[in-house]
Amino acid sequence: RKKVAKKESSTEDEFEYEDTMTKPHAVPIVVANQDHSFQLDEEALKKVLLRDELKDRYVVVVSVAGAFRHGKSFLLDFFLRYMNAKILKQNTSEWIGAEEAPLEGFSWKGGSERDTTGILMWSEVFTAELNTGEKVAVILLDTQGTWDSKSTVKECATIFALSTMLSSVQIYNLSSNIQEDDLQHLQLFTEYGRLALADSGTTPFQRLQFLVRDWRFPYEAPYGAVGGQQILEKRLEINEHQHSELQSLRKHIRSCFTEIACFLMPHPGIKVATSPTFDGRLGEIDSEFKDNLKILVPMLLAPENLVLKKINGEKVKVRDFVQYCNSYMKIYEG
Ligand code: GDP
Repeated sequence: RKKVAKKESSTEDEFEYEDTMTKPHAVPIVVANQDHSFQLDEEALKKVLLRDELKDRYVVVVSVAGAFRHGKSFLLDFFLRYMNAKILKQNTSEWIGAEEAPLEGFSWKGGSERDTTGILMWSEVFTAELNTGEKVAVILLDTQGTWDSKSTVKECATIFALSTMLSSVQIYNLSSNIQEDDLQHLQLFTEYGRLALADSGTTPFQRLQFLVRDWRFPYEAPYGAVGGQQILEKRLEINEHQHSELQSLRKHIRSCFTEIACFLMPHPGIKVATSPTFDGRLGEIDSEFKDNLKILVPMLLAPENLVLKKINGEKVKVRDFVQYCNSYMKIYEG
């Protein structure tokens, strides 16, 4: 839907909606320019966030970040299912939906935006109440890029740094394992972010959630959070036999986040991975994958598990969040 200002001098508080029928969709909020710099689409951001019913709520920002074609959209569609089911006050064990229903109504990807490095925000912001009684706004982000050439590595580090700064939970979506490469990329983008937040005196970021897709070694470490923790401890382990660079990389990563976790997902099945006609219906997804989705999604999005976005140790309201996005973007522009 298109929002128009009532009058020339109006503030963002004085918008009205032209029509209210447009379906929820992904909105590019940080976009790449021709010269590989980035730009915040402030108007788009305001349209999503500056609504009377949201402005005084505390912010929860859940971002899924990773390379293209690794199932981010597919996962985000289930996030949306969960958030929408809660709105309908369905029993939370039923949020996943009916076996034969196609996964429809949402698509994070459309047309030209498909393989573009940048940050997308879901146009629908969800509301929830924490156990503490705090009213929150849950914002979902898709952060995508590719690390495949020198120029795109810098571009990707920038965009990942931005989304890490903006989110309270950064989900690092990886295919098959956590590799040394992935940790190096993490170092690169957390370094950018840390510089930007240099004098805050607090741990700059909140929760980092590694999500390993297509985990193939359940007999070594079981699917889910417990196996994930085992793998994570191994990958982030520091010992004196390691090269000092590997040691400092691990120290750096740990120092950037209040909490680091890992979840191992099974392969979703051959239809999901390869069928061109797959429409997302649950009946064609492996049951082990669905069982783990039923654990993963509430683990991230149930009201008791939501993580409030904090800046300099203070929680932030939606109205101030827009300003915050703006000021951090300035650091990276150009
Ligand atoms: P994105 O570019 O990261 O958002 O990836 P998509 O969600 O568009 O998924 C890319 C392709 O991978 C689609 O054909 C999906 O059906 C498929 N896919 C989704 N999840 C998984 C997964 O966990 N494992 C595998 N092997 N394929 C998946």
